[in-house]
Amino acid sequence: MNVIIIGAGPAGCEAAFRLANEGIQVDLIEKENSTGGNLNNWYQLFPDRKSAKDLNTILSNHLQHPHIRLHLNTEATDITREENGKTSVQLSDGALLTGDALLLATGFKLFEAQRKEEYGYGIYENVITSVNLENKFINHQITMRSGALPQRIGFIHCVGSRDEKICNYHCSKLCCITAVKQAIETRELLPEAEIICFYMDMRMFGPGYEEMYRKAQEKYNIKFIRGRLSEASENQNKQIIIKAEDTLIGKPLRMTLDLLVLMVGMEASEGSQKAASQLHLTQAPSGFIQPADPHYGNNRTNQEGVFIAGCCSAPMNLTDTLADARSAANTISEWLNRNTQH
Ligand code: SF4
Repeated sequence: MNVIIIGAGPAGCEAAFRLANEGIQVDLIEKENSTGGNLNNWYQLFPDRKSAKDLNTILSNHLQHPHIRLHLNTEATDITREENGKTSVQLSDGALLTGDALLLATGFKLFEAQRKEEYGYGIYENVITSVNLENKFINHQITMRSGALPQRIGFIHCVGSRDEKICNYHCSKLCCITAVKQAIETRELLPEAEIICFYMDMRMFGPGYEEMYRKAQEKYNIKFIRGRLSEASENQNKQIIIKAEDTLIGKPLRMTLDLLVLMVGMEASEGSQKAASQLHLTQAPSGFIQPADPHYGNNRTNQEGVFIAGCCSAPMNLTDTLADARSAANTISEWLNRNTQH
């Protein structure tokens, strides 16, 4: 029995390892030159501040398994369901794979902040994204472009999410807690700075999240203002002037910041969109692939033999992504035992 997995982010790696442990042969396809997907962009994880790199190393070490064949720098250019129920995947290196089952672990892509032109990303030098900030944490240094230390930093939530202007109605689920985590890390590097988060709603759904949010306010002196940014501009000192509305007191707000951090949300990846179109999979309006049944078939799709794991179906945190990958491996293993001849 063999399974083709597209995407070697956390979900694809974890599912590959679990399937291989069941004695199933796995072909794991990854378009980049390394595994780990978006985990490579992260420095520390929430809520425990564990190193993202350490987790990535564990996941990639698991791939040294005799039943796993890893194809790096390789794209799935065409996916076809065969009449015999198998799935064929044409690879960019010319090889053609045929699998008893296919698992899509095509993850998510981060919202491109330039699309919210009014926030000034790519225009003003001191407007950065949450991913750019993670990179600064890796180097243990937060500076403005000039090299000066920022005195006042603002985090803007919901950039590219819950926004009807760009037809993204979904909540990306993780950016609230990421902002809290990043605000705390920023405080540790810049003890004297003023740090403010501008939020629409605080969504602290995971274990330890609410506690981290409280700690951010009580121990780390992070301010939280309920308000949505309408526009940002730049003054002659390259500071960022923001206009927002404090929606708790109903008053407009204008503030000058040294650094503006945009908490970019998650969108369906190009790989997910392409696979969904080639396989006629049902998609949510946001583009994420819909499971056959949200309660009792969350890893199945509307096509027999085609399964999903991780953020290709919805934004989810790493804990849930890994659990979802294990659930997908279990579902596939049961399905193969029922549907293939040994
Ligand atoms: S998790 Fe928070 S910041 Fe992210 S989209 Fe949802 S409400 Fe907005």
